[in-house]
Amino acid sequence: MRAVTAHKDYYVTHTLGPETGFSALGLAEALLRALALENYTDPTPIQRAAIPALLAGRDFLGLAQTGTGKTAAFALPLLQKLRTGHEGRRAKCVRALILAPTRELAIQIAESVRVYGRFLHLRHAVVVGGVSIGPQAKALAGGLDILVATPGRLLDHMNQGNVRLDAVETLILDEADRMFDMGFIRDIRKIVAVLPRKRQTMLFSATMPHDVERLAKDVLHQPLRVDIVPPKRTAEKIDQRVFHVPTSEKRALLARLLGDANLERVIVFTRTKHCANRVAEHLGKSGFSVDAIHGNKSQNARQRALTRFRSGEARILVATDIAARGIDVENVSHVINFELPNEPESYVHRIGRTARAGAGGVAISFCDASENAYLRDIERLTRGTITVAGGSIAPDAQPKPNHGSQTHRHHASPSRRRRGGARAGR
Ligand code: AMP
Repeated sequence: MRAVTAHKDYYVTHTLGPETGFSALGLAEALLRALALENYTDPTPIQRAAIPALLAGRDFLGLAQTGTGKTAAFALPLLQKLRTGHEGRRAKCVRALILAPTRELAIQIAESVRVYGRFLHLRHAVVVGGVSIGPQAKALAGGLDILVATPGRLLDHMNQGNVRLDAVETLILDEADRMFDMGFIRDIRKIVAVLPRKRQTMLFSATMPHDVERLAKDVLHQPLRVDIVPPKRTAEKIDQRVFHVPTSEKRALLARLLGDANLERVIVFTRTKHCANRVAEHLGKSGFSVDAIHGNKSQNARQRALTRFRSGEARILVATDIAARGIDVENVSHVINFELPNEPESYVHRIGRTARAGAGGVAISFCDASENAYLRDIERLTRGTITVAGGSIAPDAQPKPNHGSQTHRHHASPSRRRRGGARAGR
């Protein structure tokens, strides 16, 4: 009974009912009110597919990336299920467990739970590494309706006897493929082993490698599977350009580009923490409002940086790939790849930070001679050639504010390519 249904943004391998608002999906009034406050009018495809099935108690396997609305797809039915029965909360017991690969994602999920559940009387907490364990143990002591956790820190609490998972009714594994990438699979299996066998389980993953498929088979019982597949590997609406520039000129080029006020809210990506620090320092000294996030920063420093960036207080965020995973910031106007990633998939993740929710965005990459092979891999993966924007910090190297569609993902003409440095189209 699976079919591929065309949707303006995605292809959904599931037969969807007629387009409806949230009320027709069977959600409680308290949740509908919270959604109205968020100005959500129409459910996204994954929400339309998942919410009725999850309300009916089914297990669920969702192949969906960040940006599809997957958090609300699992959080809304979960909140509805938990809205009664919380009077019976017991010490150290947890009714629903959400596991996420990174602290940032866990905190973001908890924030969604808070927002959607604002008219319910549920207790939730976040348990992640990098912050002191005492306050978390205190939050667990009274019992929780929803616990959002990263696997490592949850295991610490289990080992210290701070939490009991034998009353978990619902388990949600978010970004399962990243949990594998980050080496959490053994922790996850240890956690799943102590959960009641009778429970509702949901697993979300952006990709479905063999390992994730096997985990899904082990933890899910006759799940409904829904694949939300972007029509192209790279978002169509993102205007992508590359500067072929020697490493020694990258910082000056970056500062020059940022001199253009059209670059309103910018994430600059680097491959290493060291480089992220140096770039942020240099921009700070040049007078830009900038923060950096990477694995060596404390949890508090990362949260502070994100808050400043979200509020617009900092216009520029310098980030490494791992630190940026799962972060959802709206209205990012430009992504700048100060260094190209050595994994082409990371390029797709990085540039997906801009052009959220149907808005246009720009991705600018700096490529030195040693990174040409990375660029080739990226173009192979995204099945396109990235427009060459300029070769050095010459006056015309700066992209025009409204570059327009004539250059969008088209092959650059040879005359615009930098002599010797640019790659020809395939
Ligand atoms: P997610 O894929 O869960 O990371 O969600 C991506 C973004 O979409 C978040 O900023 C959500 O607040 C937003 N969002 C989720 N569902 C809807 C909806 N039905 N209408 C409008 N925005 C939504």
